[in-house]
Amino acid sequence: MLKVYNTLSRKLDEFKPIDKGKIRFYHCGPTVYWTQHIGNLRGMAMGDLIRRSLIYLGYEVKYVRNYTDFGHLTSDADVGEDKMEKGAKREGLTPEEVADKYIAQFERDTEALNLLEPTIKARATDYIDDMIKMIEVLVEKGYAYVTPKAIYFEVAKFPNYTELSRRNLEKDKAGAGFGSVQDSDKKDPADFALWFFKTGAHENALQYWPSPFESPEVENGEGIPGWHLECSTMANVNLGATLDIHMGGVEHISIHHPNEIAQSESANGVKYVNYWIHNEHLMVDGEKMSKSLGNVYNLASIVEKAFTPMDLRYFYLQAQYRSKQNFTTEALEGAKNAYKKMVDRVRVLNQNIEEKGSIDKSFKNEFVKTLEDDFNIPEALAVSWELLKADINDNDKLATILDFDRVLGLNLLDKAEKEIEIPEEVEKLLKRRKEARENKEWEKSDEFRDKLENDFNIKVKDTEEGQIIDTI
Ligand SMILES: [Zn+2]
Repeated sequence: MLKVYNTLSRKLDEFKPIDKGKIRFYHCGPTVYWTQHIGNLRGMAMGDLIRRSLIYLGYEVKYVRNYTDFGHLTSDADVGEDKMEKGAKREGLTPEEVADKYIAQFERDTEALNLLEPTIKARATDYIDDMIKMIEVLVEKGYAYVTPKAIYFEVAKFPNYTELSRRNLEKDKAGAGFGSVQDSDKKDPADFALWFFKTGAHENALQYWPSPFESPEVENGEGIPGWHLECSTMANVNLGATLDIHMGGVEHISIHHPNEIAQSESANGVKYVNYWIHNEHLMVDGEKMSKSLGNVYNLASIVEKAFTPMDLRYFYLQAQYRSKQNFTTEALEGAKNAYKKMVDRVRVLNQNIEEKGSIDKSFKNEFVKTLEDDFNIPEALAVSWELLKADINDNDKLATILDFDRVLGLNLLDKAEKEIEIPEEVEKLLKRRKEARENKEWEKSDEFRDKLENDFNIKVKDTEEGQIIDTI
């Protein structure tokens, strides 16, 4: 039985999908104005591991991840400085070009980390019409009100607002942290924007859209959708009104996700998300990653230190998503060595294999148990090592570890085969066989093939690209 730590209940809940065997999974993706650091990438990798676990456990998973590709002054922190626009000014590009550039960069990174491709990659600017429709519904139903500067969601109209965050709103309102973009027409500091008209702090916005909404300060209702609204809309359009899983970083528990819930449940009249999953942060040398400390790493800076993206993936596997993980060069070194050792073991197994093995039932049970325990990947990794050290036959051992690799995503077989050292004599035989084939000397070519197989246990296969070593 799968148990998932649900932030909504603050406990391990038994997992039951809405549709039997199928899962609707939304993951808050990056704002694409800058290269994502290894902390953000860890969040994405945690989503990948959870998704792979669910697939392994037999579910069909529709996984939607978004790109925030337009600017929004989030009324709280970014006053006067919009992330996308900042990126555009810095690089002399339009916001669209900035987004294209960093989406491509992000996708290269996630591919290098062997993250499965999302079922749907939702780009916010493709959903502006849907966002406007959702705002119209909220205004119509009386959950939102229009001012000359913005359209706000009225938090007082949604009594369950603090259910996920468990905040004490009254206490928080007395302090800082609510709406530093001043708008005297805002009824309550906790109200948040669904739409910013292109006026005031947003007057010089580089990206904006016409809308049916009216403000005396702009023409054609021009403005920008609120950030929280993006996720609600993209989830709704792609996955329906109620999701099984919504995932994001722990920083979203207090504002972003409660706002999503308020909007979606008010507009749709049904529960938004059954299981909220939040991943903890990556620390660097025991500290929070920050520009001022100079400890912000991205994938390129890891590779510069002579590590591979897959070494980093192995490192990510060593902490459960709900734990903070501490990144140090030594820890990554350790991960690299362990990963290499695992690939070496698989290589030996692969070379010794006599026949296709079968998956060891008792190890598989152990492995499944770790996944069902709130996706405990470090334990799954420990079971994988126990398997490799166990006294069972090599054929079954190989079959089982490769089955586990569907979750770990370490590409073990591929790595084991690619990094093999080919003896010089074999190289020569391969070359002579290639020449023979080019000269259509088929008998000779077959002779070399038999020699490779009999003397060196190497099977070659002929493909359109030429001959390749098929199995060893
Ligand atoms: Zn989101």
